[in-house]
Amino acid sequence: MKASQFLISTLKEAPADAEIVSHKLMMRAGMIKRLGAGIYNYMPMGLRVIRKVEAIIREEMVRAGAVELLMPVVQPAELWQETGRFDKMGPELLRVKDRHGRDFVIQPTSEEVITDIARQELRSYKQLPKNLFHIQTKFRDERRPRFGLMRGREFTMKDAYSFDRDAEAAGKSYDAMFAAYCRIFDRLGLEYRAVAADTGAIGGDRSHEFQVIADTGEDAIVYCPTSSYAANIELAEALAPEAGRQAATQALALTPTPGKSTCADVAALLGLPLTQTVKSLVLATDTRDEQGNVVASQVWLLLVRGDHDLNEVKAGKVEGLKEGFRFASTGEIEAHFGCKPGYLGPIGLQGVKVVADRTVAAMSDFVCGANQVDHHYTGANWGRDLPEPDLVADIRNVVAGERSPDGQGVLAIQRGIEVGHVFYLGKKYSEAMNATFLAEDGKPRPFEMGCYGIGVTRLLGAAIEQGHDERGIVWPVSMAPFEAVICPIGMDRSEAVRDAAQQLYAALQAAGVDVLLDDRGERPGAMFADWELVGVPVRVVLGDRGLKDGVAEVQGRRDAAATAVPVGELVAQVK
Ligand code: ATP
Ligand code: MG
Ligand code: MG
Ligand code: MG
Repeated sequence: MKASQFLISTLKEAPADAEIVSHKLMMRAGMIKRLGAGIYNYMPMGLRVIRKVEAIIREEMVRAGAVELLMPVVQPAELWQETGRFDKMGPELLRVKDRHGRDFVIQPTSEEVITDIARQELRSYKQLPKNLFHIQTKFRDERRPRFGLMRGREFTMKDAYSFDRDAEAAGKSYDAMFAAYCRIFDRLGLEYRAVAADTGAIGGDRSHEFQVIADTGEDAIVYCPTSSYAANIELAEALAPEAGRQAATQALALTPTPGKSTCADVAALLGLPLTQTVKSLVLATDTRDEQGNVVASQVWLLLVRGDHDLNEVKAGKVEGLKEGFRFASTGEIEAHFGCKPGYLGPIGLQGVKVVADRTVAAMSDFVCGANQVDHHYTGANWGRDLPEPDLVADIRNVVAGERSPDGQGVLAIQRGIEVGHVFYLGKKYSEAMNATFLAEDGKPRPFEMGCYGIGVTRLLGAAIEQGHDERGIVWPVSMAPFEAVICPIGMDRSEAVRDAAQQLYAALQAAGVDVLLDDRGERPGAMFADWELVGVPVRVVLGDRGLKDGVAEVQGRRDAAATAVPVGELVAQVK
């Protein structure tokens, strides 16, 4: 590619709404362009990276035995009504009507459509196992789109779906996907952790998230540095049900004096290990809907910074309450949050969770009802709406240092970006949609299914969070938009430079290197700044002075200085 033909739109300054480094650098490097909230144009430079990521994913999926197809973005509502998701899913699901008034959804994922295909096309056990995938545009009307491609509304996902004859075979399909994901993220050059995740109503232990380690991540991972234990925060919480139940029972039995007991008194009564900075808490028993009906009975422990009179808490005078941490809960949690009953975790153990965007409006004296609880709960990502670093540090203080469930060491917490998710679905969709195959005994049986997602576009942001410096992006080579750039100095004046640049360009192309020739005639400083910002891994500088001695300067994006390389050795060196 020649730079003069390409569309290059680098910026000096990132727009004000870009909060984290990956978003800023992607905007500055001209990789994406905002069209609306959470909706971006993938500009030519960014699209090249996306295509490279897709190619690696595709290769590894096919290697693992999956078959590619492509399902529509716009899907008829009927299928979504069959599983009940058309009504059950909250506002994240974008519903549209056509000219005849028929309902459609813009797909956030494709379980319904793939199950519909399977029930028509996979009739016999002899056709199993099958794993079908596509790489397709998704739309989720996220409440809080942000961080550029990291949490977009429109984004690209690779989603795969496996169909098996029984649970054992489905386990093998799951393991194959798990291994493929490791290969994919290894090839993408990312530092990541596969963490056990909650399986909700489906049960079992087959759900893992692949988390790219980054302080700006919206997820939290609890792990043990001295063993293989790693879980996302919600699962870690579920693992301590007994202790949590006790804390909840204790909490409910309390009768503090209205108007007198402070949060700290209650903490002392419970014997909870509160830290210096987080020292107050309030309990809530009921979750109410907008009409005031109790929809779930739970115990909520909310930490607030500072020590407050409960009357003030009740009157809503205490700031910070709307960002509470849920530590323990009982009752109808499954129905309400899609989590297991008895999904509990005490303070000081692994069970720290933040409830996103929650407001606590009505509280009766001490054991109080919290209404307007987030009905749009997407999982436990305690960092999501709590960007304040000191609060995060508080959470670390409370959780880290506890013994890991495998007894092999103490727990630590780090933040992560969920870039992939593998999930054993069992018969959830096949039963709901009556998707069966004929088993060996001639009887119809519902498929055992699994689903496997990768956030293709989110991966760009995640990689940049891990790879950048003050000059710009430092891509893993496998993701870089170009593998090498040739920067000729004084190309317009010097025939020697022009010839050498053209020859090198042709030779590198012939050698299969994805090379860019910067023929724009820019000053060296401007050229270098652009390609450092964009993050091209190797730069070759050709100038009259060097060419006189038969050399060019080669500099890796991570190198401190350039090396002089004889012109004849450039291809071998760059390749
Ligand atoms: P999150 O917890 O971040 O909301 P999710 O658990 O809802 O993600 P999945 O349903 O597991 O997402 O979808 C599979 C993958 O799609 C995720 O692991 C993630 O990488 C990606 N993804 C999900 N939502 C978004 C989004 N809004 N923007 C970009 N990528 C996304
Ligand atoms: Mg989500
Ligand atoms: Mg998630
Ligand atoms: Mg997920």
